[in-house]
Amino acid sequence: MVLGNYKNCVSARAADPAILSASQDGGIVTQLFAFALEEGIIDGAVVAGPGDEPYKPEPVVATTVAELMEARGTRYTICPNVSMIKEATRSYGLDKVGVVGTPCQIQAVRKAQLYPMGMRSVGDKIALAIGIFCMENFPYQGLETMVEDLCNVKMESAVKMDIGKGKFSVYTARGAVSQIPLKMTHKFEQPGCHVCLDYVANLADVSTGSVGSPDGWSTVFTRTKKGETIWGGKAIEAGYFETKPIADVKPGLDLVTKLATDKITKNQKTLDERASFGVDKGLRNPYI
Ligand SMILES: Cc1cc2nc3c(=O)[nH]c(=O)nc-3n(C[C@H](O)[C@H](O)[C@H](O)COP(=O)(O)OP(=O)(O)OC[C@H]3O[C@@H](n4cnc5c(N)ncnc54)[C@H](O)[C@@H]3O)c2cc1C
Ligand code: SF4
Repeated sequence: MVLGNYKNCVSARAADPAILSASQDGGIVTQLFAFALEEGIIDGAVVAGPGDEPYKPEPVVATTVAELMEARGTRYTICPNVSMIKEATRSYGLDKVGVVGTPCQIQAVRKAQLYPMGMRSVGDKIALAIGIFCMENFPYQGLETMVEDLCNVKMESAVKMDIGKGKFSVYTARGAVSQIPLKMTHKFEQPGCHVCLDYVANLADVSTGSVGSPDGWSTVFTRTKKGETIWGGKAIEAGYFETKPIADVKPGLDLVTKLATDKITKNQKTLDERASFGVDKGLRNPYI
């Protein structure tokens, strides 16, 4: 169950080379939202758009493919996408909202749908929730220290960052790659991530990440009926994605399962320790 409920899992990448050129992995998020916009399944999507400082994203309501393209790539820092959902249904006037987010953000979306405190008439307008896998996130100052001080790269020179194979890597426009072992990044992690028990966005309609698939490809889970219809029934049929059965690719689901298990086991331990954190008193457990 560490991978959540899902109907189907494949390895995939976008068919459009323009989307792939600057996407993080297989361009699943951008291609699926672009398809959903063109088909009228959504009339806009809340994504992590460019902010004022390099690699410091801001949530934006993208209503064009060009705006979706500007949000491509992973920014390893907090981008409060959920804060724009209500606005998307108000000043933007959207009736069919797409949203992308980390597992915790998709949990917030589902909670807002079930317990709509301050979110009146928002829940039924969520038309497509795409979740991205997430092991941990970093406050912006922590990310800046990792990139500028430890990797020796200016934030404005970075064109891509990724985490994989035990390393944090930064790529520059001139083609240089600077890497540090992941263990050097642990002290910069957002503390709230240490009680998180979801790796693969269990509550999304469709969730995707790099782990499990080769470079340039993504692992994609379809989880809900809606996700399955939009992905399998429509986008694949219309030729928007190339897919391979997940069983045919390396390292495949075994690695996804291992990493999900590692995350949940480690963070469950942190949660358990909070119960006896003080002398005769503990810290709050949000799950009970
Ligand atoms: C903090 C973080 C940790 C991650 N950890 C893992 C991991 O451990 N294993 C793994 O397999 N994958 C992880 N990912 C997911 C992976 O890096 C890609 O985001 C995912 O595979 C989607 O790639 P794509 O090519 O389909 O997306 P693209 O088409 O490139 O689009 C990326 C989308 O992600 C959104 N986005 C970017 N940064 C953020 C952010 N900070 N918060 C919310 N939305 C954002 C953008 O709005 C954009 O729409 C992580 C992502 C983040 C943000
Ligand atoms: S580790 Fe969990 S809490 Fe932290 S950003 Fe990722 S999904 Fe959210």
